[in-house]
Amino acid sequence: MQKSEIKYQKEIRVRMAPSPTGPLHIGTARTALFNYLFAKKFNGTFILRIEDTDKERSKPEWEKAIIDGLHWLGLDWDEGPIRQSERISIYQKYLEKLIADKNAYWCFCTPEEIEAQKQERLSRGKPPIFECQCEKKQRKDGKGTIRFKMPKTKVFFDDLVRGKISYDSSLFGDMIIAKNLEEPLYNFACVVDDFEMKISHVIRGEDHISNTPKQILLAKTLGFESPQFLHLPLILGQNKAKLSKRSGATTSIEDYKRQGYLPQALINFIALLGWNPGDNREVLSLAELEKEFSVEKIQKSGAIFNAQKLDWLNGGFIRKMNLNELTKICIPYLIEANLIQSGGVEVSTISPMVALYQERLKKLSEIPELIDFFFKNSLDFPKEILSWKGAGDSEVIVSLDKLANTLSNIEKADWTKEKLSEVLMPIANELGDRGKILWPLRAALSGKQASAGPFEIAEVLGKEKTLQRIEQAKEKLTP
Ligand code: GLU
Repeated sequence: MQKSEIKYQKEIRVRMAPSPTGPLHIGTARTALFNYLFAKKFNGTFILRIEDTDKERSKPEWEKAIIDGLHWLGLDWDEGPIRQSERISIYQKYLEKLIADKNAYWCFCTPEEIEAQKQERLSRGKPPIFECQCEKKQRKDGKGTIRFKMPKTKVFFDDLVRGKISYDSSLFGDMIIAKNLEEPLYNFACVVDDFEMKISHVIRGEDHISNTPKQILLAKTLGFESPQFLHLPLILGQNKAKLSKRSGATTSIEDYKRQGYLPQALINFIALLGWNPGDNREVLSLAELEKEFSVEKIQKSGAIFNAQKLDWLNGGFIRKMNLNELTKICIPYLIEANLIQSGGVEVSTISPMVALYQERLKKLSEIPELIDFFFKNSLDFPKEILSWKGAGDSEVIVSLDKLANTLSNIEKADWTKEKLSEVLMPIANELGDRGKILWPLRAALSGKQASAGPFEIAEVLGKEKTLQRIEQAKEKLTP
């Protein structure tokens, strides 16, 4: 199907319209990013609108979390945040007009009456919609709603990604547009705001696609020109099914931040959820995305959420970081793990440790577990870790003795990984199997089955601690 063309003649104005009813999720962040990129591409204006008309579910702390998350991702907006809760009189004006024009009406039917009508229609093989037919002026409990008299027609629109789409509005029923004059609902407030804010393009997730014909009909009834629509593909789990907790896609941006994902990696990852640059590049910065973004490359089919790819991208951005900067953002994780105290350690003390793992770090939260051994006075580990290829305790003690003797002769001033390698490698080679001394050394220094190399660790630990750890390892093996 032919994709529809972007109308450029109007000033480009887009919006993201989160409801502050929960944290900032991947899907909302993607909507924000695509709106942001669209605005950048066409020199447009990006507006942040907070859709907080649901008084029970909207919370200021969620609004704050969403705003903080967007700032952290680097997605800045040009206008807003504009809160719908502060615009009630505007919606009221349009509600009154709709009612006066008989395009909307008060409905006082009870949930039971509504359900009964739907069931009755179903029993006649008709779609279970509801249209209020009673003339009630009120309900016993005083509650009512305002319904839009849904015109019965075919609705067409040209989606910028999905092409021409049509709906039959006789299947919609008379939708509720407000609980009362002070409490408008999403579809209605959205239409009013898209018009009032002169939104030229509505870019949002495909989960909203069935709202679009309803919004178009409302807009038409109110005499508004509808914006152009662009629906981003659904985000699917690895198995192409609905998202699950396990896929990670339902994790909030704040949680990703807490786990030590970098905003650059998340932006890169989110951009690829339904878009690609048209070649095989996968690593793109926000600045590159701003240059490369094009609507034509947005896909129709579902975007698969691949958590491994996010790890891979994050690892790539971590590797590219300046060591000092990386160390600075690792430090809070070390404080949280109680390895260091806030303000108690210089960046320059930690950076050589971080340097050893910069290559293999996938997320910052991994750092405490990787470098914890540097901060301990004695290491707690099973003695079997010291054994190379099943060597017995006495054999390992011989290796450790040899290491202690050799290393104690190296001057403190010469204590570098190069010097250590220069001294120890000939001995290791002589033994015919380097592991015989390199493994026990590495294991004695780290207490771990896997770690950075022995010379690198020894260099960071320094002479004294290195010899002390060799001694402690020997004690473990001595009956
Ligand atoms: N408040 C809606 C949401 O959070 C906005 C949908 C739209 O962009 O129209 O999903």
